[in-house]
Amino acid sequence: VWLGTHVDPDGDAIGSLLGLGRILRTSGRQVTLACADPVPSDLRFLPGCSTIVDSGPDAREHDLAVALDAGDAGRLGDLFDAGTWSTLPSLVIDHHVSNPGFGDVNLIDARAASTAEMIVGLLEELGLEPDAGAATCLLTGIVTDTIGFRTSNTTAATLAAAAKLMQAGAPLTEITQRIFSTRPLGALRLQGRALDRLRVEGPFAIASITLADLGELNVGPAEARGISSFLATAAEPRAVAVLREREDGQIDVSMRARPGADLSQAAQALGGGGHALAAGARVDGPLAAAEEQVLEALRVHAAPPPAPDSP
Ligand code: 5GP
Ligand code: MN
Repeated sequence: VWLGTHVDPDGDAIGSLLGLGRILRTSGRQVTLACADPVPSDLRFLPGCSTIVDSGPDAREHDLAVALDAGDAGRLGDLFDAGTWSTLPSLVIDHHVSNPGFGDVNLIDARAASTAEMIVGLLEELGLEPDAGAATCLLTGIVTDTIGFRTSNTTAATLAAAAKLMQAGAPLTEITQRIFSTRPLGALRLQGRALDRLRVEGPFAIASITLADLGELNVGPAEARGISSFLATAAEPRAVAVLREREDGQIDVSMRARPGADLSQAAQALGGGGHALAAGARVDGPLAAAEEQVLEALRVHAAPPPAPDSP
């Protein structure tokens, strides 16, 4: 079985990949675990990280390709090649409402707060028990995608899945410490720069991070994760967009909204996708043009409802 997850991987991507991979391996399957981008440093404590490769499925070697937490085929980056994918059966497991269902079989549950939560449900149906290592990977997926059980899609089922993983030996406190309370100083300083630069445009706010910022503060692109969630704690803006310049000249867009707004349309208009309150896209540079493009998408697709007429 070949299992792959999305570019710029987060805790749900890596946690789901390593968790499901480990369980399949334990139950006697041969597995290949793949991601086009390296594992961020704060997730390298997860068991099995060093076994992740950056190659796509091969019909001579694999009987099945599984895509995890990837909202569309493009999110697999170089791991997706339409020709190769058409030659072997594929399964998509994902919780993004915008997922078009690009597999032969598609398990898509937009109610699930993370792909890892879906995998816990799947294991129950299959009668498989995670060991402590797999449980740690899956709980990390749940904890990161719900920002510590705080997102609006966190349900009783999310907590029940987490409880099950703790019973299997997953250390919740260690996971939350590593994910939320341990950041390189450069990453914190990068947050500071983004905060200083945050520009309010009507109901929206926008900030950009340049390649020069990353160089000066000696932080990798993965360290920029979390900045949009941090800035979205600002009470006034309806939505916040953080743009980050990439080496290839394209711009990664990460957006967060306050409850009540819906970013998924704006993200799709930009060629990306995601959830109502957290969405993203990759757009063409340069930065200044990308900022205008993002603001325009927000104005058109995520505007506040018109104020009721005053009496
Ligand atoms: P983040 O802002 O944390 O990078 O991403 C927020 C959400 O938007 C995630 O659920 C992620 O899957 C989705 N997302 C981010 N970037 C892209 C993109 O380029 N394309 C698509 N389809 N979804 C994205
Ligand atoms: Mn996810």
